[in-house]
Amino acid sequence: MIENNSEIKENKKPLNFIESFIEQDIREGKNEGKIHTRFPPEPNGYLHIGHAKSICLNFGIAENYNGSCNLRFDDTNPVKEDIEYVDSIMEDVQWLGFKWAAEPHYASDYFEQLFEFAIKLIHSGKAYVCEQNAEQIKEYKGTPTEPGKESPWRNRSIDENLDLFQRMRKGEFEEGKYLLRAKIDMTSPNMHMRDPILYRIKYADHHRTGSKWCIYPMYDFTHGQSDFFEGITHSLCTLEFEVHRPLYNWFLDQLTNQSYRPRQIEFARLNLTYTVMSKRKLLQLVQEKRVSGWDDPRMPTICGLRRRGYTPEAIRNFADRIGVSKHDGFIDVALLEHSIREDLNKKAIRVMGVLDPVKVIITNYPEGKEEFLEATNNPEDESMGKREVPFSRELYLEQEDFMEIPSKGYFRLSPGTEVRLRYAYFIKCNEVIKNKDGNILEIHCSYDPDSKGGKAPDGRKVKATLHWVSAKHAINAEVRLYDRLFNVEDPDGDKEGRDFKEFLNVESLQVLTNAKLEPFILNAKAGDKFQFERKGYFCVDKDTMPVKPVFNRTVTLKDSWEKQKGK
Ligand code: ATP
Ligand code: MG
Repeated sequence: MIENNSEIKENKKPLNFIESFIEQDIREGKNEGKIHTRFPPEPNGYLHIGHAKSICLNFGIAENYNGSCNLRFDDTNPVKEDIEYVDSIMEDVQWLGFKWAAEPHYASDYFEQLFEFAIKLIHSGKAYVCEQNAEQIKEYKGTPTEPGKESPWRNRSIDENLDLFQRMRKGEFEEGKYLLRAKIDMTSPNMHMRDPILYRIKYADHHRTGSKWCIYPMYDFTHGQSDFFEGITHSLCTLEFEVHRPLYNWFLDQLTNQSYRPRQIEFARLNLTYTVMSKRKLLQLVQEKRVSGWDDPRMPTICGLRRRGYTPEAIRNFADRIGVSKHDGFIDVALLEHSIREDLNKKAIRVMGVLDPVKVIITNYPEGKEEFLEATNNPEDESMGKREVPFSRELYLEQEDFMEIPSKGYFRLSPGTEVRLRYAYFIKCNEVIKNKDGNILEIHCSYDPDSKGGKAPDGRKVKATLHWVSAKHAINAEVRLYDRLFNVEDPDGDKEGRDFKEFLNVESLQVLTNAKLEPFILNAKAGDKFQFERKGYFCVDKDTMPVKPVFNRTVTLKDSWEKQKGK
């Protein structure tokens, strides 16, 4: 028996239109008040941030209304699907923090039931075996403004249809020879109702059913029925399926006269600026080696975002923030970046890392001396404690934090100026040592021993506080600076026939091989996240090795895209 355990959500935020429908259905006692959603990916690629929106919506609704959510692989096209994708999809959904009800489901588990349903349709004169080829079908289909024409095979006898369909299943015919079609209405204003195809012959092994089948059901014939077989109450899908809804309902009408029935509700898919979201295009980037793989940190895939340093919480907050709507539009990718900054600001330990180093010698600091200075792990959260940072006579500073001839408004280190070293001392630059080519080898400074902790006893002020790393304690690391993969807001849009790959940002990856990090990061493992003070949020990459740690920049501290573009 179906248990009625759903309840109307206690209102914190205004309901979105899907929640309003759901609450109305609960109030009306539809499906005995039960709420059961599903997330139905086709295992033909890796999940991306658009899927994350759908996952958060489907699983989120199930959580909010004490319902459940199925994971269902919509695996009806054996040619493009693969077990690699099935595994990655499960990993990604779990990583986002969701649990599907019971075991994962597969549309291919229903092949037998769907076949029987097709037989039932033939018996009731609502399906027929057609011999038209793709071209003829197109010709007979008509256009949205002109009615179609009936196929000459539409009025075969039921017995002949049954015989042919069963022989299609047995593999007696070559691909393309026959199709099974629904007999609905070739003059319907809705093109999807003009005798849609239900089955086609395809001699391809399926990743689950092997060579058992040589006919495969079409998406429309599979989806709603799978919803029905699983007891789904609300089938949430993207807007392009709105025009399929009459067909979805038509199949349900033929399948059942019970009061239980799933309800399809459409919402706008997520489009992000500076991003392509089509699986086909993402696959192209991978196959053409424009990126290092599906999990390249520049990819909008869940595994790419994970490797980049995104957290499940940031993605869920993002999904919550963008909400759902009925109208297609673009979300600024800066909003996604904001979500990860906001989350890491609370969670990430601050460390100092010099990405592009220059050597600094504190000439009045005793040789061989070292001391450990106290640093705050996260000023947003005292419970994250303190750590000790080693200081010594030779340090690294960021090259850009020194200017021999400072430009107007430059307050960082330059000859004669004094700055604060974070958590350490005031230092003043006295001399610049160069090689014969004029390149800076070392900067010689003196420190004020009375300014320990970064405060001068006489209360004098400095205009800059710089991060630094003690040279002899420094860990050498590789740092990969990632940026947006595309240069234009809508790389996918119609640009006078230009290919989306023409808009790839050639500066989307910059590899720094000589970064110097404080020793605190030494035991960090792949996936650990840090804020490098003044530089951004960084995460340990899976390529990391004890002898050569590798870090990915997740995001800069502030949105600097517009500034960079304008430079
Ligand atoms: P395909 O073109 O291969 O069908 P798809 O992006 O629709 O690509 P599916 O695997 O069918 O991929 O998608 C699974 C679910 O995720 C579907 O319910 C789909 O509506 C939803 N989904 C896919 N892309 C987005 C997106 N950009 N925003 C929101 N939901 C999406
Ligand atoms: Mg799809």
